[in-house]
Amino acid sequence: MAIKTIGVVGAGQMGSGIAQVAATSNFHVIMSDISEALVERGKSHISKSLDRMVQKEKINPSQKKEVMARIEGTIDLGKMKGADFVIEAATENEGLKLSIFRELDGICSKEIVLSSNTSSISITKIGSATTRPEKVIGMHFMNPVPAMELVEIIKGLATSDETFRTTKGLAEELGKTPVEANDFPGFISNRILMPMINEAIYALFEGVGDPEAIDKVMKLGMNHPMGPLALADLIGLDTVLAILQVLQEGLGDPKYRPCPLLKKYVDAGYLGRKTGRGFFNYGET
Ligand code: NAD
Repeated sequence: MAIKTIGVVGAGQMGSGIAQVAATSNFHVIMSDISEALVERGKSHISKSLDRMVQKEKINPSQKKEVMARIEGTIDLGKMKGADFVIEAATENEGLKLSIFRELDGICSKEIVLSSNTSSISITKIGSATTRPEKVIGMHFMNPVPAMELVEIIKGLATSDETFRTTKGLAEELGKTPVEANDFPGFISNRILMPMINEAIYALFEGVGDPEAIDKVMKLGMNHPMGPLALADLIGLDTVLAILQVLQEGLGDPKYRPCPLLKKYVDAGYLGRKTGRGFFNYGET
């Protein structure tokens, strides 16, 4: 079946980025969130990102208008009935994702693939919440979606080869490079990245260095484009904590225990760039 319309569930930083890339690649997009204000915030995020592309002369103003016109915002998940492929990018919470997939399964045509942008949650478990586990797959984009080339594609235990081929083909149509990973907590990317970020937070917690020093060491000494604390702020500290908890629980190894300082920041509502404050300050958001 030809994919013309992509459903994106969640209009946060990842959902809006995925919607932008899909609409720029000429797909019609249905993007949902739980309130009008959040849908509008997602659209405004896309509009600002496209403005930057206009400034860099990557697209012209009329192309921006066309891209925006291809994105339909909604608070009605029932609208996903019109989608030929769904990418779920709601908050990193297992219970929430299971309930969204249960609902999507009832709403969407039985023919279509339901994918999740989860950073760590079991695709096998998400698939088992539906009557079509062979059509459920992980499609893990990187942040910021318009800039990052990788899409990690994760097959659950029941995911079919056909679903994998469809998803890989779509990732390529979106201009991305797909890499296959198996369904274990955190997949490949976050299995490796999160322990490093957590260790950087422990280094801060134990006073080994201040945030600037920790990030500078990794940037100048290890040639990382971004320090681990700035990267945690970009990802969102709530998301970092949720992923570490999945690693700790799923792999049963105490080495993944989230640093108490990370928990404290999340409790305080210091979630990184999205709230204007994390390990660094970003001013008003
Ligand atoms: P975010 O907090 O920016 O956005 C999540 C959005 O989901 C919010 O707008 C929220 O209102 C919405 N939402 C919650 N319940 C919903 C529902 N029932 N229906 C529709 N929308 C709902 O988070 P994010 O960073 O965009 O992360 C989204 C997903 O992408 C998570 O699974 C996360 O693990 C994954 N991810 C995040 C990153 C990252 O760097 N932040 C990278 C790759 C993958």
